[in-house]
Amino acid sequence: MQCPSCQNTDSRVLESRAADAGRSVRRRRECLNCDFRFTTYERVETVPITVIKRNGNRETFSRSKLLNGITRACEKTITEGNKVQIIVDELETQLHQSNIREIQSLEIGEMVLERLKGINEVAYIRFASVYRNFHGINDFVATLESFKTDKSQFATIG
Ligand SMILES: [Zn+2]
Repeated sequence: MQCPSCQNTDSRVLESRAADAGRSVRRRRECLNCDFRFTTYERVETVPITVIKRNGNRETFSRSKLLNGITRACEKTITEGNKVQIIVDELETQLHQSNIREIQSLEIGEMVLERLKGINEVAYIRFASVYRNFHGINDFVATLESFKTDKSQFATIG
């Protein structure tokens, strides 16, 4: 790591500690040439994931956006105990471990619903209605109808 003061590339580490909730390591270093002290951060390299939205737009997966979305949908239902954080952590880890480069926003929504199912019914239904863009009872009915169609299609194939 190059010294910001004299550009020498040899330094010794004085101190290492976890930062950013364990996602990076902060190191305090001292230049072996001029004794200048500086700080470096080391983090795991992750491949950016592209999210394809319903309208066909593409954007880079954003952890904070997903966190905000779930928090808004689940307000006053599962805000206690950092459960939303845990859901987002698990989901992000799963995405990076699966090594995919692209995912439909709807798929992410279904992954969230999968997790909400076991945690809180109200949060589940609320997130489903926001995520699937329900505008009224007809949308619920339409979704149920399409579930039935999906099932019968699978039955035909299987
Ligand atoms: Zn130096």
